[in-house]
Amino acid sequence: MKKVYIDTMGCQMNKSDTERMLGMLSHFDYEETKIPEEADLLMVNTCSIRQLSEDKSFSAVGTWGKWKKELKKNIKIGFCGCVAQQKAEEIFKRAPYVDFVLGTHKIYALPEIIKRINNGEKVCECAETNKTEDDLAKNYEIERVKGVNAWIPITEGCNNFCTYCIVPYTRGRERSRQPELIIKEAKDALLSGYKEITLLGQNVDSYGKDFKDKNYRLAQLLRDLNALEGNFRIRFVTSYPTDITDELIKTAVESDKVCEYFHIPMQSGSTPVLKAMNRRYTREEYAKIVRKIRDMVPDVTITSDFIAGFPGETEEQFRETLTAIDEFELDYCNVAAYSPREKTVAAKWVDKFIPEDVKDERFQRLNKKIQENCLKSNKKYVGHEMEVLIENFYEHKGKMINTGKTRNFKTVHIESDMDLTGQFVNVKITEAKTWYLKGIQS
Ligand code: SF4
Repeated sequence: MKKVYIDTMGCQMNKSDTERMLGMLSHFDYEETKIPEEADLLMVNTCSIRQLSEDKSFSAVGTWGKWKKELKKNIKIGFCGCVAQQKAEEIFKRAPYVDFVLGTHKIYALPEIIKRINNGEKVCECAETNKTEDDLAKNYEIERVKGVNAWIPITEGCNNFCTYCIVPYTRGRERSRQPELIIKEAKDALLSGYKEITLLGQNVDSYGKDFKDKNYRLAQLLRDLNALEGNFRIRFVTSYPTDITDELIKTAVESDKVCEYFHIPMQSGSTPVLKAMNRRYTREEYAKIVRKIRDMVPDVTITSDFIAGFPGETEEQFRETLTAIDEFELDYCNVAAYSPREKTVAAKWVDKFIPEDVKDERFQRLNKKIQENCLKSNKKYVGHEMEVLIENFYEHKGKMINTGKTRNFKTVHIESDMDLTGQFVNVKITEAKTWYLKGIQS
């Protein structure tokens, strides 16, 4: 067997692509290694959401290029993912030791690429396609990361063109995968022992909008998955606020396997900033959606994403983001300082860019607010009995700990000498920390 090392950066969609690529490579006698120095094939699966991730990808292949020149002439190097899709042939100019460039639209072309690079060719496969990977690569397996949760992409791409976001340029227009392929993938994952299915999409709740031949949306997919046999959980991320329908919320409530968890990026608490971002809702509309979910779904966790220092954002508008986190009782939020991305509309608004020190200061204040709210949200559960799906077992400061997630996506630590990984355990919550809960098995 030959060895392949893949350095995966960025979001869960990239991680899922890596699992698919490893599945394809297993047909060519490649097995995964976590040690880059022993690999015959080195690949980086890149993220272009921020400049920092892009720089990291070039730094990784730069190191491998040196190894290739000085130590191991036969290694092959692949540059894949979102930066590859965006820069295509340009990659060879900046990193001439790269053997192939593979964009997000073409990961199904990997087997053919391997044959070609082994014949000494340099290959760039980045043409856009409106097909999903399923259309062309039905027969390849998926080499899933070991664990309790199986990630299953249900849509690829995005049609929204938020003015800061590179995704529509790197992942293309939105395409939904066929329900029967998703359901088969879920069945296979459950048969292999996975206990949780997470449906993935840039806008998971717009699933099926592009089907011309049927009226089949996320709510129906959840119902069909919920009907599968076995004790398992279902989650779905990421939701676009205005695509969350009453039917979807109702289905989440009525389907016993669907968890009480919604991740709904708001991005800013200020309506004028949302408009500049080309987000298609106001602060009030977002509030209405969150309120509806809280009314309909008991003990629901709602998390969000925010950007600090979007071009033109005033101090007053930034404060509206802080008040939104409080007002909507958001349980946890991811935060990023604005990073201009080539090709996007906002990247051209140079005269409105916020100075780095101001952006950084807002970023810190947002993080502080999130810490406070996260602790507040966790404290609500002290004394409660909660079902925890155990994900990990490890030693920490001389004690053995099981960690897992509740249905509503709270992380729980339980001290226990027994490895409970993969089990559903009833836990009494005894203490709330900022980022997790502590509990005892009941
Ligand atoms: S909805 Fe906006 S932020 Fe999300 S992927 Fe699409 S363009 Fe990017």
